Amino acid sequence: MTFADLGLSDQLLRAVDDSGYTDPTPIQRGAIPAVLMGKDLIGIAQTGTGKTAGFVLPMIDILAQGRSRARMPRSLILEPTRELAAQVAENFEKYGKYNKLSMALLIGGVQMGDQIKALEKGVDVLIATPGRLLDLFQRGKILMNGCDLLVIDEADRMLDMGFIPDIEEICSKLPTNRQTLLFSATMPPPIQKLAAKFLTDPKRVEV
Ligand code: AMP
Repeated sequence: MTFADLGLSDQLLRAVDDSGYTDPTPIQRGAIPAVLMGKDLIGIAQTGTGKTAGFVLPMIDILAQGRSRARMPRSLILEPTRELAAQVAENFEKYGKYNKLSMALLIGGVQMGDQIKALEKGVDVLIATPGRLLDLFQRGKILMNGCDLLVIDEADRMLDMGFIPDIEEICSKLPTNRQTLLFSATMPPPIQKLAAKFLTDPKRVEV
């Protein structure tokens, strides 16, 4: 199976080709067609399996097909740490280089000024750690009611770091009619509960 068999657009196939990848990894083979079809997904995969491209590639295609909404982000990726969020942002730039999508990286430990400016200009994608996202939301700087594509990445690490209440709060601010993807290396009971609460008829891909 090649990347072209997964249903990705020509722009993305070019970007993948530029990265030098020849074959999709198992998580990519399982996740990409399901995400493109609009399904919710539980991806049980560790870092190193290529899971980031497994959600970033189809997200770019979904976003590229829709229309930008002024000042309304259309998707949100939640990461447990600043480093992971920054890596996902890099992936978004790399794979999205032939698409004109804008993003904001909303992480703690840096001043909010630039993040607020990016939000005011309007972005398609938010890549965020939960604490900073909620902080900006509570200051009235983010509209989340247009975010109908959500990724909860590294859910078991979110659990270890005590972020589940924040994630529940964030989910309550998003449209209920949305597509949700959850990735986790393991599925302890609290993550199973979270998935049961916030995902609808998810496809399960385990690698
Ligand atoms: P991840 O699991 O998302 O952290 O990805 C692990 C590494 O695999 C990253 O350095 C990616 O650039 C690389 N990678 C992702 N997809 C592929 C692929 N299909 N073929 C080869 N390498 C890949």
